[in-house]
Amino acid sequence: MSEGTRRDELAERLAEVRARIVAAATPVGERDVTLVVVTKTWPANDIRLLHELGVSDVGENRHQEAEPKVSELAGLDLRWHFVGQVQSNKAAAIAGYADVVHSVDSVRVVRRLDSGAERHHRVVDCFVQVDLGQDTEAHGHRGGVRPTDVEEIAAAVDAAASLRLIGVMGVAPIGEEPAEAFERLAAVRARLGEHYPTATAMSAGMTGDFEAAIAAGATHVRVGSAILGSRPALR
Ligand SMILES: *Cc1c(COP(=O)(O)O)cnc(C)c1O
Repeated sequence: MSEGTRRDELAERLAEVRARIVAAATPVGERDVTLVVVTKTWPANDIRLLHELGVSDVGENRHQEAEPKVSELAGLDLRWHFVGQVQSNKAAAIAGYADVVHSVDSVRVVRRLDSGAERHHRVVDCFVQVDLGQDTEAHGHRGGVRPTDVEEIAAAVDAAASLRLIGVMGVAPIGEEPAEAFERLAAVRARLGEHYPTATAMSAGMTGDFEAAIAAGATHVRVGSAILGSRPALR
């Protein structure tokens, strides 16, 4: 595919997703919703085209893939979101380039992100990832901590000098109505907000369910395939 054709394709899908976001956000009061375009598996050049089309926030889920893309695109004014599971031995390196980490799910990861951020003289925004599965054993674990353990992780982020607690993140479990899962996430955020006034954000919603997430109060949606196309089925 020629570069011009790819650009047109991305422009069209991006416009469509942006319109759907506005339509979903309007009935709930014109909230600003940040679109994070998840570019995992797609080349750095797609990110360059997206940037030309006005995208400012991009998401990656694997350190090994994110790091070279970040250095290749270092000249562009982009906010990098890390949305995948953070291996604790990669956390300090991730804190060297990620502006936002959506998937903070252990105290160990908090400590390592904090020391990495400090070493790079940066402050990293963090979401605590909540496991929205009702029955983790039966439905397969999609990452995150149980709602009852969110407070402990949040307290660790809040105490970390180079991290900023901004909210909660969740992935709707397979086999459940996403709207119900997102309502549970909104309840976790509301509870957390009582103790941590900065924790107002909610990262929820992907290609298949971002409208339901916005209806439940998402402030950040993470959309990949609706914009970039379907990925090879490896992950
Ligand atoms: C891949 C990914 C997304 C985007 O998924 P799509 O269905 O392609 O929109 C969102 N969040 C996380 C955590 C992901 O890994």
